[in-house]
Amino acid sequence: MKSIYNYDLKNLEIKLTKLGEKPFRAKQVFSWLYEKRVDSFDEMTNLSFDLREKLKENFVLNTLKLVKQQTAADETSKYLLECEDGALIETVLMKHDYGYSVCVTSQVGCAMGCKFCASGLLKAKRNLSAGELVNQIMFVQKDLDKREKRVSHIVVMGIGEPFMNYPNVMEFIACVNNDKGLNIGARHITISTCGIAPVIKRFADEMSQVNLAISLHAPNDALRSQIMPVNDMFNLEELFEALHYYQKKSNRRLTFEYILIDGVNDTLQQAKELVELVKSMNAYVNLIPYNEVEENPFRPTQPKNAAAFYDYLKRHNVQCVIRREKGSEIDAACGQLRANVEKQRSARR
Ligand code: SAH
Repeated sequence: MKSIYNYDLKNLEIKLTKLGEKPFRAKQVFSWLYEKRVDSFDEMTNLSFDLREKLKENFVLNTLKLVKQQTAADETSKYLLECEDGALIETVLMKHDYGYSVCVTSQVGCAMGCKFCASGLLKAKRNLSAGELVNQIMFVQKDLDKREKRVSHIVVMGIGEPFMNYPNVMEFIACVNNDKGLNIGARHITISTCGIAPVIKRFADEMSQVNLAISLHAPNDALRSQIMPVNDMFNLEELFEALHYYQKKSNRRLTFEYILIDGVNDTLQQAKELVELVKSMNAYVNLIPYNEVEENPFRPTQPKNAAAFYDYLKRHNVQCVIRREKGSEIDAACGQLRANVEKQRSARR
């Protein structure tokens, strides 16, 4: 049965009307789901018994089960969740000085095959539904409710390529963004993509207030193609053409993510190429210390190289930060917890 978290307010109105209900009921149900955050239809006490029964016959609520939770000293918390079909996904909560953000998974596994990433080791299995995306936020929000805190920001930066699951990700955003629901502002939501150029343009047309982050990781086509096969589909020229289009439409500052990998993309020559590539954009560069993945040969850059790379960008007027690592002691990086649990499971089989 379909989870009711799959419906944004508009679609819930349509669905309830089809079930013979007045459209305003959808607002009441929405409020129970997202403001009062109940766990069952029986708790929706201002609805008639008949309507509650009808809801129970047609929908389920929570479809995710907690398999494992790990919390680090800095309050980063990682939830390993199991979907109804047994698929495992990871959701991460992070505390910042500006609030709490949740990093959601958009696909079970990933087909993009970036060489440095742990998610690719698991291959792509399927897209998550909009309801499974919303459910991840609700799972974490209900946990935060115990501390009377609220999810203020969302990053679609977990396992998967969100722009290969575009319609579901957009429905998810419409749902959490709704002011009758969680009311998380578009400007507090960031989608990260490895660079699916045509979808970036579509996104610019439809969701121009949502932030966009691009996983760049290399300053030229030769290197980028080596470590990110997506570059053979959409090279840097096509990617940047789409990004200029996005900036024209949205006027928003872009984020470039650049993982620093020892001896691969962390030289001063590469910093120079990176400056050339991004200097004409309204953007900042997030330099991210690479998180080691046991199964592949890449290692994090040396701190002195990271510092030199950062200084070079700064001196050439590229806005950038070296992002602090959060929760590395809990396998918080990119598919690592899930990969580790799957390894244990298959060892047991
Ligand atoms: N598919 C999307 C979102 C998921 S990956 C994208 O590519 O943007 C989220 C970010 O983590 C990406 O920038 C990705 O390149 C990066 N990443 C993957 N593996 C990593 C690792 N081992 N250490 C640090 N960052 C990693």
